[in-house]
Amino acid sequence: MFRANKKGWFISGITIATLISGIIFLFLTTIFLIIVGALGGSIDDQNIEHEDGGSGVICSPDGELNEEKWEQYFDDPRHSGMLMGYGDDIIELSEEKGLDPVLFGAITLHETGYGKSVALRTKNNPGGLMESDGKTLQTFNSIRDGLEAMSVTLYNRIIVDGLVTIEDLGNVYAPIGVDNDPDNLNEHWVPTMKKLTKDMGGLTINCESMKDVDMDVIGGRSWVSPHTKTITSSFGYRQGCGTCTTLHKGIDIASEGIKGTPITSFADGKVTVSDSSGTTHDSNLANMGTGYGWYVEIDHGDGIKTRYGHMLSKGIAEGRVVKAGDVIGTVGSTGASTGPHIHFEILIDDEQIDPMSHVIPFLADQ
Ligand SMILES: [Zn+2]
Repeated sequence: MFRANKKGWFISGITIATLISGIIFLFLTTIFLIIVGALGGSIDDQNIEHEDGGSGVICSPDGELNEEKWEQYFDDPRHSGMLMGYGDDIIELSEEKGLDPVLFGAITLHETGYGKSVALRTKNNPGGLMESDGKTLQTFNSIRDGLEAMSVTLYNRIIVDGLVTIEDLGNVYAPIGVDNDPDNLNEHWVPTMKKLTKDMGGLTINCESMKDVDMDVIGGRSWVSPHTKTITSSFGYRQGCGTCTTLHKGIDIASEGIKGTPITSFADGKVTVSDSSGTTHDSNLANMGTGYGWYVEIDHGDGIKTRYGHMLSKGIAEGRVVKAGDVIGTVGSTGASTGPHIHFEILIDDEQIDPMSHVIPFLADQ
């Protein structure tokens, strides 16, 4: 009887041990699936087509946000979970910070497992931002607040640190071969982001346009548009509105297909203004407003400054030090503009002068 009892206990022991390990196994599997889900494993659920190979970096063909595709994500809870309806906030914050909304949106969706992450659900923290202790997730009052904090981080990485490509960002967001990534999930970050930004209609800025361009520097100076040397309007008085004439205080540079192409710095210097003046609408309607739209001013020292108007979106950040020929923004049509062009000014002691004599060396091979 005793032995049988003992045997009975023994069998029960095995059963209990099996049960416990079964429970532990299920528990661990669930946790693993949650982590994989949060890291974007759920992409396969999203029915997203396969990448077409190549470098994978896809830019929006017209440099614009593809609204239809954008809405497919942010107006549909299956694709954005708790981030549904926050598409406009992401666009607004992007415009404020000079970020590409497609890149911001894609990172947000990816980092939250399409709006389902625990950090988002319980702490309004879409970016998974940590407290200064590096261990605790920050808590925000609203998802909008969480998105705003995330936009600041992205601004610091992309605009201040200059990590403009998905690869650059991947090295920071999901470094490969680090201790806290034993299963090498981070190696999926870059390809997934490329696929996602493509499926969202393509990047709109900080894309091809922000790559380095090869500009001839002559005497420490550079032409300001790698796309064209065509000057469509010169410095001086011109008909503004029938009988009135206005002084055009710069030169206009444009040619077919210039929209979305880079604008480069005329000389070495420091960015003193990167802001908007007048409307920031990018429209082909005549004179949507007044002003430069998004523009950049660079101080080259010795009383010389340059200005670049009507950019597509916010250009390079204030305070950045640039070299002649560095990319500082993207051609658009914001402000008082009837079509995509660069309005380029040279100022001496804060007064605009005719830039022609200074740009002649670059026009010689026209
Ligand atoms: Zn102009």
